[in-house]
Amino acid sequence: MDIFAARVSQLESEGAYAVLARSQALEAQGRTIFHLEIGQPDFATFENIRQAGIKAIREGQTRYNPPAGLTGLRAAIAADAGHRHGLDLKPTQVVVGPGAKPGLFFPTLALVDPGDEVIYPDPGFPTYAAMIAVAGGVPVPVPLREEKDFSFDLQAFDAAVGPQTRLIVLNSPANPTGGVIPLADLEHIAARAQEVGAWVLSDEIYARLAYDGRAVPSIASLPGMPGRTILVDGFSKTYAMTGWRLGYMVMPEALAERVELLLTHSIGCTATFTQIAGIAALSGPQDEAEAKVADYQRRRDRIVAGLNSLPGVSCRTPQGAFYAFPNVKSFGLTSAEIARRLLDEAGVAVLAGTDFGPNGEGYLRLCYATAVETIDAALEQMHAFFRRLAG
Ligand code: PMP
Repeated sequence: MDIFAARVSQLESEGAYAVLARSQALEAQGRTIFHLEIGQPDFATFENIRQAGIKAIREGQTRYNPPAGLTGLRAAIAADAGHRHGLDLKPTQVVVGPGAKPGLFFPTLALVDPGDEVIYPDPGFPTYAAMIAVAGGVPVPVPLREEKDFSFDLQAFDAAVGPQTRLIVLNSPANPTGGVIPLADLEHIAARAQEVGAWVLSDEIYARLAYDGRAVPSIASLPGMPGRTILVDGFSKTYAMTGWRLGYMVMPEALAERVELLLTHSIGCTATFTQIAGIAALSGPQDEAEAKVADYQRRRDRIVAGLNSLPGVSCRTPQGAFYAFPNVKSFGLTSAEIARRLLDEAGVAVLAGTDFGPNGEGYLRLCYATAVETIDAALEQMHAFFRRLAG
């Protein structure tokens, strides 16, 4: 008997947590495991940000604050996001939440009625399918194409979009592929969204982790789009603040008011001292964050070169985020089988592409936000493993 509500019956965990649990169990048996599964920076939050958080706690900044966030932080975000996207943003368009995830979930709940269609990338971040299911929306996955550097298959997008489409979810740079949606594709998607009257939820949590000097275009900057876009960003990746829980959304004021009510009655508000640390992150020097991007780029180059030297494996060069998404189709095994055997036989923890949707079949996801020594050691193990597999 199904004793739970339909809205939670289809929910699944994130693959990363499942693999982490399994690799930790192996470590408890004395095995050495090279962790390339969890997507978070390997370095500590920058010192000026940590100090601002500690000072705030010492000064007693530990009480409730307004559900949409501290006025000072909303203003700082409006200025920073406005500057980066060439938009004139009001602080009242900004809603702060504990991480970027609430920025995905709550606008979806505010916009999607049961039966409304929601387009989202496959492979894509697992929260998209989860939030659509909880809202009662109809999931409409659209494949990303390796030969397009993992941008949408626009033909499939055109076939999927229509008056029944309520929301289009974009993620650029993307998890799990590292792909960046080119401006021309964004223009195409924006035109279709306006034609059919759909909203766009643009997850730009990796916007500042882009390589080769590339600036990542945002759909929110395109003509006609600010009135129908929810831009989601945050502090987790850029400032290595995953555990602080701090993110935000930018959207039209009327929607922001609805989302604020959802926050009021669910999370209440985001931790006060965390938000004060966020103000320090935005208003302080940015050189450390920029240096980390250069660091990730070096690691990217290393892991991509290493992956391409493995027998039977090919890997495109990701343009952003900190994930490599190699193609392992030549072995004729499922991604899940290869990922499981890589962990068991070679001690390398990676995710199967199918943890991000059926269209991830034939790929693995490796997070390279880790020490170069770990990347090198993992590649060495993988070399022996894939040589055996290639026979
Ligand atoms: N969007 C994407 C694409 C992500 O990869 C992640 C984190 N893995 C998030 C959102 C959530 O970020 P946060 O930790 O700030 O909630």
